[in-house]
Amino acid sequence: MINSSTKLVGLLGDPVEHSKSPVMHNAVFDQLDLNYRYLAFQVKAEEVKEALQGIKALGIKGVNVTIPHKEVVINSLDSLSKEAKLIGAVNTIENKEGRLIGHNTDGQGFMKALEKEGGFSAQGKKVLIIGAGGAAKAVAFQLGLEGASELYITNRTFESAVNLAKDLDEKLTLSKVKAFPLEEEALVNDLPELDLIVDTTPIGMYPQTNIAPVIGDRLLEKSSLITDLVYNPVETVLLKRAKELGVKTVSGLGMLIYQGAIAFEIWTGQKADVEVMKNAILSQLELIN
Ligand code: NAP
Repeated sequence: MINSSTKLVGLLGDPVEHSKSPVMHNAVFDQLDLNYRYLAFQVKAEEVKEALQGIKALGIKGVNVTIPHKEVVINSLDSLSKEAKLIGAVNTIENKEGRLIGHNTDGQGFMKALEKEGGFSAQGKKVLIIGAGGAAKAVAFQLGLEGASELYITNRTFESAVNLAKDLDEKLTLSKVKAFPLEEEALVNDLPELDLIVDTTPIGMYPQTNIAPVIGDRLLEKSSLITDLVYNPVETVLLKRAKELGVKTVSGLGMLIYQGAIAFEIWTGQKADVEVMKNAILSQLELIN
């Protein structure tokens, strides 16, 4: 029940109406009987600074930040976590007694999902990342921070892959970082056997669920594990094909849940039940599929 002691957390983004975060967090607040509510706030780019001042003024406990504000919020925060600083983007803000601290739980959520659902740890691993946008950056830095040895980045816009590879090379100590154009033949011929392929593009996401990135069977078979960050549908065309080829897969749903569970713990100091989060999201996905 909402009353004068209810604490507020939420989401800043534009748009926010398709976000699964409110239902995911509110389900765990209900389960734990925590007097918190999570609301989604649609905030225009020119009003981000005022929105962050409002968090302090109103005593909002924290927020998630989504597209397109993950980078610009940094200018208005009091400090950043190690991950947020490296990635250059924030997806979770903690209001710690009036000081706003920026975190990035996307990469940690990604790693946790791979560990729990794929038995994967990054140490010494060779990984191909498809895409070079915001999610690719979070995933690549976390893989590097957790000890991956070789990171390969391929992207439709080659220049962005080159820039991400350069950024990783400058900020982390990796055995090898290299950018590739998104061309099946070159990737198959030039890459070593891989431990993981991560698709970070939105290809295959609802409503265009019948398409997959242009990666063929020979590339998929080069890896022991493949994961797609798209979580709607839970099993994309790409993951379906990998499964048919006998390659182990992990869906993007786990990343969504674990990045949320880490944010939940930052705000409340309590562990979230990830099964409750998962069921809350699945009930929403069923509504739109
Ligand atoms: P973004 O910053 O816009 O980056 C998108 C990337 O995908 C870019 O590298 C882009 O290439 C590439 N791309 C887009 N359309 C493409 C196409 N038709 N063919 C080839 N490449 C294409 O987006 P983002 O924030 O990284 O998010 C990417 C995806 O990850 C979204 O589907 C998002 O929902 C998902 N995601 C999931 C989670 C989770 O918790 N599971 C968390 C974060 C993000 P160019 O550089 O050439 O444009």
